[in-house]
Amino acid sequence: MSDMEYVGNAVYQRLHVNDHIRDLGMYIHIPFCQKRCHFCAFYLTPHREDRVQHFLSAFAQEAALYALDGTCHRFPVSTIYFGGGTPTALEPVQLTTILNRIHRYFIVDPAAEITVEADPATVSRSGLQTLRDAGVTRLSFGVQSLDKSEWQRLGRLGEMQTITRAMAYANDVGFSNVSLDVMYGLPGQTLTSWQHSLEKILELVPTHVSCYALTIEEGTKFSRDITAGRMNGHDADQETVMHEQAIAYLEQAGYHQYEVSNFAQSGWECQHNLRYWSGLDYLGLGPSAQSYVGGMRFGNIADLAGYIQCLERKQLPVDSLDTLSMADRVKERVIFGLRMNKGVPTQTFAALNNDTAWQLTVDRLMETGLLSLEREHLKATSLGRRYMDSVACQLL
Ligand code: SF4
Repeated sequence: MSDMEYVGNAVYQRLHVNDHIRDLGMYIHIPFCQKRCHFCAFYLTPHREDRVQHFLSAFAQEAALYALDGTCHRFPVSTIYFGGGTPTALEPVQLTTILNRIHRYFIVDPAAEITVEADPATVSRSGLQTLRDAGVTRLSFGVQSLDKSEWQRLGRLGEMQTITRAMAYANDVGFSNVSLDVMYGLPGQTLTSWQHSLEKILELVPTHVSCYALTIEEGTKFSRDITAGRMNGHDADQETVMHEQAIAYLEQAGYHQYEVSNFAQSGWECQHNLRYWSGLDYLGLGPSAQSYVGGMRFGNIADLAGYIQCLERKQLPVDSLDTLSMADRVKERVIFGLRMNKGVPTQTFAALNNDTAWQLTVDRLMETGLLSLEREHLKATSLGRRYMDSVACQLL
């Protein structure tokens, strides 16, 4: 038995016997884009119709494997999230075929939040109507910037008109929940151009806004440009100012910050992402998709050809598996939970009350103003959210 077969079987066995799973979120990785943006390190491959057809067949097999012996029929699916890649690089009817597979093999909660990430340049009114009719409830448009020169530096084709039109189509066909993603800390971006992007975003009246700092990932064009001296590295101080600018501007416009990078009008928080930060279970399907189920973290192979080959052999395409101890599960839950403004209920980590080293670390982080205890919740202060990575390392 190969390592991958062994890992796939272990995942399957654990899912089959686990009685502690209440419900599932589902992440579906669509590994296609027209071209790679200069900052992007996600697993993807250039869109080609023959590859899409092979992917769709393999995906159907993967969903069917999880349904063997009714394994996943025991857990209702509460959220579904199509990410990538660019899900809307597929035809709308191809996305609805995937959704139909999920409905065939899993029990989907009738009130499930179903999100599709979309590139505004790849949507049409009729395509969005197809998604709406298939039960998609939420769109997340990857906008990144509202400035033409910034788009060009990111290696994207962008037009304000394209975004405005995509939002109009979404409204026309009845999507009441639409998120826009923007980025700060971009090369050449200034406080003025960032403010301009934020203002343009709010003119489009989304229910939800995600503001992500640019991270320089190894293997990207940006990383190579920095190494070669063609581009400056990131300016941490400027990023902090831009983040604070976004918080102040969005909050006064009625978008409350509920997580480090996420803002929503009241009641429109992303239920799928809240699962990640709350330590709830989610299953990832598609190449490179990650899962966290019943205390196991496992990941699919990040290679379309390898993913397809596994599924042709009727094997789960899982190539990494880590089973967390109960203490590690609790620590992770705290670390992810601290990303949320509401923090983590103290009862979440009652099991660590006898872990003296951990308690001392929490005390030290509170003394240095990075964490605070309020109404039975451990929270990151605004300073703590700025240094979240360091806080997380200390708590692990
Ligand atoms: S569209 Fe999104 S997933 Fe595709 S290359 Fe650009 S950032 Fe990456």
